[in-house]
Amino acid sequence: MKRVIAIANQKGGVGKTTTSINLSACLAEAGKKVLVIDTDPQGNATSGLGLDKDECENTVYDLVLDQCSIKECMYKVENIPNLTIIPSNVDLAGAEIELLGINEKEYILRNAVDYVKDDFDYVIIDCPPSLNMLTINAMTTADSVLVPIQCEYYALEGISQLIHTIDLVQQRLNSKLKIDGVVFTMYDKRTNLSSDVVDTVKNNLNATVYQTIIPRNVRLAEAPSHGLPINLYDEKSAGAESYRNLAKEIIGRKDL
Ligand code: ADP
Ligand code: MG
Repeated sequence: MKRVIAIANQKGGVGKTTTSINLSACLAEAGKKVLVIDTDPQGNATSGLGLDKDECENTVYDLVLDQCSIKECMYKVENIPNLTIIPSNVDLAGAEIELLGINEKEYILRNAVDYVKDDFDYVIIDCPPSLNMLTINAMTTADSVLVPIQCEYYALEGISQLIHTIDLVQQRLNSKLKIDGVVFTMYDKRTNLSSDVVDTVKNNLNATVYQTIIPRNVRLAEAPSHGLPINLYDEKSAGAESYRNLAKEIIGRKDL
């Protein structure tokens, strides 16, 4: 089974990159072959997995501008045998403009990923915090979208816009696309707010909600500065346990 999952929410700071890094590493730990594609010019998934984003010769930018093949921008992640990444850095911030007038620009990433899809069990795409052409490329490439929602007061802000975008892409560009589910992040069991947010989203959103809830865990925030996913940085932490559970849940889903 091959699955391409875009991790998207145009709000920044909700846990997209943390989920991309750690879900990918935990899927790899479970024996799956995983490709991570970093489509955010901030390159946080790239550095969080231990690559020096400014030293990578080829990145997603070169790929979307047809300056390299997909295999030329794939890098093995150190110490994680099943994990490969296509990195990104600030160069990508200019890609939107350079893509103006290019034919079929919505499908550039999909056409490239088609070449290597069979080499992986999962392709995880970390999206930027906006609904731009890179996010659209992620959504035309993906089978499904995983939406991290931070347990905070404004959690639902912007979600209807995100769902509308996913619907439009599904109608016009990628008929197989669906929302595979919502993952709550940064849950704080000491506050009523976190559980109120979970209840509100469950009552208002017609989407599958993953049973695994990612707790607020300082080890998850520390790990990227060591260039390590949580299961290598602190394998016994609550954060590692939660992302292992999420990976297990995704592997076990039969409806995707
Ligand atoms: P996004 O990619 O949506 O912008 P990030 O994954 O970069 O969000 O997370 C935003 C910030 O919150 C980062 O500093 C990250 O380390 C921190 N963070 C994310 N998830 C958690 C968590 N479960 N517990 C503690 N800190 C977290
Ligand atoms: Mg991010």
